[in-house]
Amino acid sequence: MLNSSLKQLSAALAVKKISSVELTGLFLDRIEALNPAINAFITVDREKSLGEARVADARIAAGNAGPLTGIPVAHKDIFCAEGWLTTCGSKMLSNFVSPYDAHVIARFKAAGTVTLGKTNMDEFAMGSSNETSYYGPVKNPWDIGRVPGGSSGGAAACIAARMAPAATGTDTGGSIRQPAALCGLTGLKPTYGVVSRYGMIAFASSLDQGGPMAKSAEDCALLLSAMAGFDARDSTSLERPAEDYSRSLDAPLAGLKIGLPKEFFGEGMDADVRAAVEEALAQYRKLGAVTVEVSLPNSRLSVPAYYVLAPAEASSNLSRFDGVRYGYRAPEYGDLKDMYQKSRAQGFGSEVKRRILIGAYVLSHGYYDAYYLQAQRLRRLIAQDFEAAFQVCDVIMSPTSPSVAFAFGAKSADPVQMYLSDIYTISTNLAGLPGMSLPCGFGAGNMPVGLQLIGNYFDEARMLNVAHQYQQVTDWHLRMPAV
Ligand code: GLN
Repeated sequence: MLNSSLKQLSAALAVKKISSVELTGLFLDRIEALNPAINAFITVDREKSLGEARVADARIAAGNAGPLTGIPVAHKDIFCAEGWLTTCGSKMLSNFVSPYDAHVIARFKAAGTVTLGKTNMDEFAMGSSNETSYYGPVKNPWDIGRVPGGSSGGAAACIAARMAPAATGTDTGGSIRQPAALCGLTGLKPTYGVVSRYGMIAFASSLDQGGPMAKSAEDCALLLSAMAGFDARDSTSLERPAEDYSRSLDAPLAGLKIGLPKEFFGEGMDADVRAAVEEALAQYRKLGAVTVEVSLPNSRLSVPAYYVLAPAEASSNLSRFDGVRYGYRAPEYGDLKDMYQKSRAQGFGSEVKRRILIGAYVLSHGYYDAYYLQAQRLRRLIAQDFEAAFQVCDVIMSPTSPSVAFAFGAKSADPVQMYLSDIYTISTNLAGLPGMSLPCGFGAGNMPVGLQLIGNYFDEARMLNVAHQYQQVTDWHLRMPAV
C-alpha cells in the first residue's frame, strides 16, 4: 500500500479491499513512527483526518466517488485550510487557525481527498533547503544528514518516506521541482494562472504557483486535474476550459523534439548530476525522441533578476504583518531600520528579514529604475528566449538542480551559494512557463538526481506524457529510501 500509485489506491478503495479510514490510519501510523526523525509535518490531527476519511467512505459506499475520493493528501502549510493551524513556516503565523479554505484545498475537498496534515516549509517559502522554518529543519529521508530541498521540503520528505502518497507544494523559483529532485519524486509547477492562488499565502505574487508532488507523473496528472481551475477570487486565475491532465499519458514519444539549452549544460553542474541526466537523455532517444541544442542567453541573469523581483513583491506582501506601509514610496534607510526592528520583535526569521530589506531597497526612490525596472526588462527578455526556443523544440530538458542534496549548514552561511541552487528552475517562473522534475538516477552518496522538463504555456498534459513514458521504462520513481 505504501508504495502504491494513486490509481492503485483508488482501485483498492473502489473494490473495498481497504477503506479510506484504514488507509488514512496506515499513513497516520507511519507519520507517528517516522515524523519525529524527519520533521516533515508541522500539524497532524488524527481525529480530524479520520473524520474526513469517514465522509469519503460514505461517499464511496453511495457510489459517488471520483478518482481521488478517500485518498490522503498532505498540504503544504502555505495553504489556508479551515480549522487547521496555517503557519507558512513562520513564528509570525504560529497561532493562525485559518477560518477559510484556499481554492486548492476546496478543490481537493470536492474531490473527496483526506487532509493528512500540514507540511513543514521554509519560512514564507523563502529558501532552498528547509533550514529557515521556524519549526526546525526537515531531514532528507535518503540521508538525514542532508537537506530535503526547499521550500516544499516537508511535502517532498513526507512522500519520500512514504508518510503520504501525495502532497501539494508551491513554486516561486523552484520550490516544487528542487525538493522533488533532491528527494527522488515527481513534481509539477503549472503555467502561471492555472492553479488559483486564493488562500495560498503570498511570497511573490507574480511568480507563485501551486502544484502537485507525488511519486509519478501519472499521480501528478490526477492531482493537477483536481487542483487546476478558474477562480474569480484570484485576479490572475485564467478562465480556461477544465482539462483532464491524464488524457495523453500513453501517447508515444516518437519524433518528440527535446531542446537542450547550451547555457544549462556548461559549468556549474556536478559530474554525477550530468552523468544521470545524460543517461536519461539517451533513454529518451531510445523512446524515439531527438535532441536539439537551443539557447537561453539571458538565463544566466535569471537569479539576479529574481532576487530583485521576488523580494520586491515579498516586501510589499509582508508589510501586512507589521502594519508598515511602503512599496513604491519606500522610506529612507532610517525608516527601514525601524521596520527591521519591528519585524524582528514580531518574529520574522533572518532570511525573511533579508528579503524585506532587499525588497524595500530595490523599490525605493532613486533605486527603482536601476534595479526593479531593469529586472522587469530582463524578465521580458528571458520569456522571449523561451519563445524562440519553443520554435524549434517541443519540450526543454536540463538538470533540476546543479547538485544532489547537500549537508545541513553547507550553504546557509553564503546566500549566493544557496540562491544558485535554483539556477535551472528560476527562469521558468520568470517566464510563467510550466516546469517539472522527475527522478532520473542517483548521484554522490546515493542521493536522487532530478531531470527538469520545461514546457510551453499550457503544455502540462504533454509534459506529463513525456515524463510518464520515461517512467514506463525506468523505475527510479519507485525506489524508496530505507527509513
Ligand atoms: N529558493 C528560492 C527562494 O528562496 C525559491 C523558493 C520558492 O520557489 N518558493 O526564493
